[in-house]
Amino acid sequence: MGDLQVSEKIVTRVVDLRSDTVTKPTEAMRAAMATAEVDDDVLGFDPTAFRLETEIAKIFDKEAALFVPSGTMGNLISVLVHCDIRGSEVILGDISHIHIFENGGISTIGGVHPRTVKNNEDGTMDIGLIEAAIRDPRGELVYPTTRLICLENSHANSGGRCLSVEYTDNVGELAKKHGLKLHIDGARIFNAAVALGVPVHRLVQAADSVSVCLSKGLGAPAGTAIVGSKSFITKARRLRKTLGGGMRQVGILCAAALVALQENVGKLEGDHKKARILADGLHEIKGLRVDASSVQTNIIFIDIEESSRTTAAKLFKDLEERGVLVMPESSTRLRIVLHYQISESDVQYTLSSFQQAVKGVQNEHGN
Ligand SMILES: *Cc1c(COP(=O)(O)O)cnc(C)c1O
Repeated sequence: MGDLQVSEKIVTRVVDLRSDTVTKPTEAMRAAMATAEVDDDVLGFDPTAFRLETEIAKIFDKEAALFVPSGTMGNLISVLVHCDIRGSEVILGDISHIHIFENGGISTIGGVHPRTVKNNEDGTMDIGLIEAAIRDPRGELVYPTTRLICLENSHANSGGRCLSVEYTDNVGELAKKHGLKLHIDGARIFNAAVALGVPVHRLVQAADSVSVCLSKGLGAPAGTAIVGSKSFITKARRLRKTLGGGMRQVGILCAAALVALQENVGKLEGDHKKARILADGLHEIKGLRVDASSVQTNIIFIDIEESSRTTAAKLFKDLEERGVLVMPESSTRLRIVLHYQISESDVQYTLSSFQQAVKGVQNEHGN
């Protein structure tokens, strides 16, 4: 990776673990972009967008798919299609991405009311609590109307934990029983499918719609796909235009996403393996707390113990000086996300950088 100027020092090695969104397009992606056959996709004529959407619908065993600019727009469109009557309510996790990190768009733009249910440590919500949150239609004079349940798989804020096929099916059954729709925020659904060892279409079988990021672990430069029934996608296409997400020769981006699908799904297992090696190593460092056994995919949370005499902010800076880039989550927590542009040697370098950074602080204090 390239040089980076950090705090006036030049470090020659950069290990970028801030997110799996930081990957750079490969030569193959750039070549595919350069030669992509394109046309106006707002008018519905871009052949490469059509190829990508056909391919993704097939992989997910749904009737149709739509390429959208971002995961945030994918979720927003999906929620709004399912909740097209004002006064609708969606049940979602209290630390879900849609609820925490998407500017509250479902309510500010969509007029949809969020009803949160507590996320357990493994990213699930208790089925009993979901059922209890469903509004009784007999109270319609005062209640919003529940129309949708949203799950997130893998669950980012729970450290990339995976929801099982069985759990997802059970939530799907509950939704059906009450006449509700089920949407899965599957920004990292391929990570979950690989970690669980199930085909991705099986994992989302119970869902009416899924939003899938192409620019996270899969490494495309931009874009998300949403999948669902033909009538869902027809409405989604219209809403995409309303929100300003219709793009003209978008096949240039879709060409890179097609390469990402072909070449990078198979690399996710390696990312998970590297995450486990890193988590096991970090677990051994005194002053850091890492629950290595809960690392199922490519995300690691690192808690800094008070006894370590460092803080997340200080450790972040000390690592940055060594060229190791991580994400501060709070005053006592850092986050690391693995991706395929991190090598095994980068993992070893990261471990020794953490060791030096934590030890350095302890030495300053005469420990
Ligand atoms: C990244 C992410 C999104 C949104 O993606 P953007 O493309 O950044 O808008 C949605 N859900 C989850 C769980 C994510 O990790």
